[in-house]
Amino acid sequence: MGKSAEEIHPVKAFGWAARDQSGLLSPFNFSRRETGDEDVRFKIMYCGICHTDLHRIKNEWGGSKYPMVPGHEIVGVVTDVGSKVQKFTIGDKVGVGCLVGACHSCDNCVNNLENYCPRRILTYNATYHDGTTTYGGYSDHMVVNENFAVRIPDNLPLDAAAPLLCAGITMYSPLRYFGLDKPGLHLGVVGLGGLGHVGVKFGKAFGAKVTVISTSPNKKKEAIDHLGADSFLVCRDPDQMQAAMATMDGILDTVSAVHPLVPLIGLLKPHGKLIMLGAPDKPLELPVFPLLLGRKTVAGSGIGGLKETQEMIDFAGKHNILADIEVIPIDYVNTAMERLVKADVRYRFVIDVANSLKA
Ligand code: NAP
Ligand code: ZN
Ligand code: ZN
Repeated sequence: MGKSAEEIHPVKAFGWAARDQSGLLSPFNFSRRETGDEDVRFKIMYCGICHTDLHRIKNEWGGSKYPMVPGHEIVGVVTDVGSKVQKFTIGDKVGVGCLVGACHSCDNCVNNLENYCPRRILTYNATYHDGTTTYGGYSDHMVVNENFAVRIPDNLPLDAAAPLLCAGITMYSPLRYFGLDKPGLHLGVVGLGGLGHVGVKFGKAFGAKVTVISTSPNKKKEAIDHLGADSFLVCRDPDQMQAAMATMDGILDTVSAVHPLVPLIGLLKPHGKLIMLGAPDKPLELPVFPLLLGRKTVAGSGIGGLKETQEMIDFAGKHNILADIEVIPIDYVNTAMERLVKADVRYRFVIDVANSLKA
């Protein structure tokens, strides 16, 4: 007989888990491993609610395993370090995003792109090296290999920094990789949610003109006055969309549901790039003529590697980029999920784990 998960993971932990694809979350006792030589253990202070958590708890992409403790925008304070840990000491402020493991030998890993490693291990709903299930940040503490933790700059408050661990890197990485980080470009951001609003802030920090493309006219004033966007298009208003045709160098599409791409491709200048970041559960329609006629690119991008995640959060520290958040207690999480379905959040829910999660 092999060892049970409890024998492999003897340290008691507590969180909230979804039990089935209703996605309803409720209190859950489980266990985590002891602090290994290269591990850091930390008390979770805050955890952001990414729309991916919602897709996953409801099994919208298939492959969900229950019980599932979601959460991959995790920040906390180190309470224990293994004997070989070099980067962290007790008391450090750390963050963990979507990844807790990778193979460390493939081309992607060698190039600091653990996010594209075929054997990457996700923070929850995955199987760790030791064969046990990974559990995310809607929980009291966590233990990770030090290579999968980043240091949170001292000037960033932990609650508003938490969403940077997924939303932040998901926006920063494609801006860099696709050359959309040059001053003077015109960027579109589709969907003003958790990812989108952080995308506006990184775009502005890189010196772009940023236009939000949204289904929610009531987000316009805040997008411009508060988030720093330069202009705002209601994507369901054909006149507004027509007037903005062929004006953009790049578009970050963060929409979580099926939506038309042709109007977005129309917004691009020739050679423009539409980067798909949202992950709808069904395929989108992609006619090719609008691409051929302007040598346009449609591409995708998934989170970022650990080196780039540290770079992103250091950049955020320097430019004071934070998420706009609504801090909630854990027992509000099911209501928060209902509101997230309706895009009713300005702009990221963050769970106050340390103050509200009680075993
Ligand atoms: P979110 O906060 O819910 O934001 C999504 C936004 O999309 C909404 O605020 C809404 O903005 C817009 N939207 C929603 N339904 C729409 C519809 N039917 N038609 C048009 N627009 C709609 O979600 P998020 O946390 O930012 O995540 C967005 C997506 O990215 C999810 O699918 C998530 O799984 C995925 N994701 C991908 C990565 C990656 O690595 N690529 C990382 C994290 C998340 P408006 O009100 O402005 O229209
Ligand atoms: Zn996420
Ligand atoms: Zn690898």
